Amino acid sequence: MVKRSIPLVEFLRNTNGSILIITHENPDGDALGSGLALYKFLKKKGKEVYIASKDGVPHMLDFLPGAQEVIKPDDRFYDVGIIVDASGFYRAGTDVKVGKKIRIDHHIGGEFYGMHDYIDPNAPATASLVYEIIKSWDESAMDKDIATCIYTGLATDTGFFRYSNTTEKTFELARELVSWGADPYYVYTMFFEREKPNKMKLIARVLETLQLHENGLVAGVTVFKRFLDETGTTYEDTEGLVNYPRSIEGVRVAYALIEKPEEGVWKVSLRAKGDVNVGKIAERLGGGGHKYASGAKIEARSYEEALARLLSAIREELKLQKVHA
Ligand code: AMP
Repeated sequence: MVKRSIPLVEFLRNTNGSILIITHENPDGDALGSGLALYKFLKKKGKEVYIASKDGVPHMLDFLPGAQEVIKPDDRFYDVGIIVDASGFYRAGTDVKVGKKIRIDHHIGGEFYGMHDYIDPNAPATASLVYEIIKSWDESAMDKDIATCIYTGLATDTGFFRYSNTTEKTFELARELVSWGADPYYVYTMFFEREKPNKMKLIARVLETLQLHENGLVAGVTVFKRFLDETGTTYEDTEGLVNYPRSIEGVRVAYALIEKPEEGVWKVSLRAKGDVNVGKIAERLGGGGHKYASGAKIEARSYEEALARLLSAIREELKLQKVHA
């Protein structure tokens, strides 16, 4: 494979100041996997580097090497700030004081900060871009820990090699990472098979809310805040619930509408099955994401209002994208 010349590599090579890597709020496997891989690599290269996440590290990702080193964003000034796996610093969910801003990401659109951004919407995961950075800088610094972080980003963002962004290249990357020591069985069991019994109770409550719309093209679930209180679960436990409505036959767009009264919003997660671009639906609601996975925050006074706005955005986009049952 031909190595790409990456301006960011030269920039970081020559940086002597402090570097803050920051993930988007509610970080997923790719945000923390890519962030931690870059963090560990830059440390090996002797850089003064930190990694922060507003919401810390969720339980299912606490196995990632370096997870204990993730800090909460603070008031310090950092010479360089790198936002990973997000369409801009606004997605960090908090203000950070940084000199130069840089974005490493695979989302379409978003904010651009200059020639040192490293953005490729065709990459299956941000972690694969971090792997390219490492390969083009100093591949000999790869180790089992870094490979595990990158593999986790790649695996989680491809639905463990099942989604439509899974290609021959994805498997080739995975093969290389396994040869560096990443263990697919370990990552899978740590990520998926450490659920708390209370999460099962939450799933049961949430599945009761299942609704189908548009002749079965659209399906979704709702997570009311009281469900979390009643089952002793937290917002973190809502991760992945949107996959249940998506698994229904004929469904092309799935949503999970999650009440977040403390922020005064309804968080919506959108997932596509087939060729609907749910990124466009999220954009209509002021959010963003990819073609097959996106999200937004809807400011609404009631559940009915939030759902109506969501369904209207979905309907308009289905019409525009000429999607019929
Ligand atoms: P989620 O449904 O939260 O797992 O998010 C799916 C994808 O959409 C991720 O790639 C997120 O980065 C993106 N996303 C989620 N919420 C937002 C938002 N409020 N604004 C922009 N992008 C978002």
